[in-house]
Amino acid sequence: MLRRDMATSPVSRSPRVPVEWPHVVIVGGGFAGVSAARQLANRRVRVTIVDRHNFHTFLPLLYQVATAGLEPADVAYPIRTIFGHADNIGFRHATVADLDRARRVVVLDDKSELVYDHVIVTTGATASYFDIPGAARHALPLYSLADARRLRNRLLLALEEADVAAERSSVALNFVVVGGGPTGVETAGALSELVGIVIRRDGLHLEPSTVRVVLVDLAARLLTAFPESAARYAKRELESMGVEVEFGRSVVEVGPRSIRFADGESWAAAAVVWAAGVTAAGTLAGRLEGPRGPGGRAVVGGDLRVEGGAGVWAAGDAAAIPDGAGGYLPQLAPVAIQSGRHAARQVLAVLEGRATEPLRYRDKGIMATIGRRAAVAKLPHAGVIRGTVGWLAWLGLHLWYLVGFRNKLRVMINWTWRYFDWPSGPRLIVADAETAD
Ligand SMILES: Cc1cc2nc3c(=O)[nH]c(=O)nc-3n(C[C@H](O)[C@H](O)[C@H](O)COP(=O)(O)OP(=O)(O)OC[C@H]3O[C@@H](n4cnc5c(N)ncnc54)[C@H](O)[C@@H]3O)c2cc1C
Repeated sequence: MLRRDMATSPVSRSPRVPVEWPHVVIVGGGFAGVSAARQLANRRVRVTIVDRHNFHTFLPLLYQVATAGLEPADVAYPIRTIFGHADNIGFRHATVADLDRARRVVVLDDKSELVYDHVIVTTGATASYFDIPGAARHALPLYSLADARRLRNRLLLALEEADVAAERSSVALNFVVVGGGPTGVETAGALSELVGIVIRRDGLHLEPSTVRVVLVDLAARLLTAFPESAARYAKRELESMGVEVEFGRSVVEVGPRSIRFADGESWAAAAVVWAAGVTAAGTLAGRLEGPRGPGGRAVVGGDLRVEGGAGVWAAGDAAAIPDGAGGYLPQLAPVAIQSGRHAARQVLAVLEGRATEPLRYRDKGIMATIGRRAAVAKLPHAGVIRGTVGWLAWLGLHLWYLVGFRNKLRVMINWTWRYFDWPSGPRLIVADAETAD
């Protein structure tokens, strides 16, 4: 049954789209939400994407914004602009507070409501702090553009402060990255490059050996999703760049400028970068009724339908999607893209009276870059590639998936520039970023 009462508050919509068309609300304009909307563009449905940001963020390159390699605008793209050509897609800049499944209503944070026929929840995940005292307050996550700008501010401010102190006495500066997954490895490598560039090019009075970048992990190796050989390669590369890697480190407390471990050791830390894990608990998906999967994700059926209510679907990081082998698909961009697209197709199937189908995920592999000309990629049919070939594959893939031709061009120019080690990079301390959401 298609409902005709649409939004109970004003939404942006094209006048050329009949109000009788079924209303699909997509919560979240990340990889999954944008892919879902693309699938619904120019179909006989009225779509409203709701996101608390008016832009789509390319999360895999956030660490480059945080380490002053790219501008925030290089990795973000206005959602309205992405769908400017599609008459049936509107955008609402708001945070979704709740879903009222009985009334089929999406409740926004200003208490206004959008009535839906179908809702696709693609609210992603957020940093997981595992209840470690002080971590949520003092550690710096990397999950939004504001996080990246905040981290960039902190890193550059710490270097400026140390420069002043170094004129009076010797200083020791520690940057600690927690988590040896792809985000931690990429951030630690880029951070070490940033420190080198700032000291060599920007004339700071710091002795390079007094600035430590330390990557810590509880596990006994890096990149646990990759084969052991790739992990060893990543460690060697990081160490050759000056990053110290410490395993078996269990963080028990994070202070404003410190980090403490289970063995009682405590370090001063100018910044603690938190790349230790993600969770959907606390997000909208984490609050949906129904069973929870790993990391608080909403368990969905193979066709991405959320149990226990008609017209509710979930995709991307928000959803625990069965992998067909008793587990769940990982929280990766290709999973988000394919599942977002699939959820939208299933909505169309239901609206057209067809049966839904389970998602058949096509594994695209995983990748992590360590620095210039160093990356590891585990590809489904080509095994592990690394070094320059892996790095070029990483560059190509990220450019391919980046939204917007201008962004692709800007990022390509930036990378080419930096490759030749010219003193480029937006090393700006933007004061408002400390408080921005
Ligand atoms: C730093 C980092 C690096 C990564 N690197 C890689 C990589 O190299 N390769 C890879 O495959 N994957 C990588 N990932 C994972 C990948 O980015 C995610 O799997 C992917 O972004 C998930 O897409 P999504 O659409 O489900 O969620 P997201 O991309 O997180 O999008 C969620 C959207 O929902 C919005 N939202 C959330 N809650 C609300 C609400 N209540 N109301 C309104 N809007 C809301 C958010 O603003 C956001 O726009 C990385 C992730 C991070 C954080």
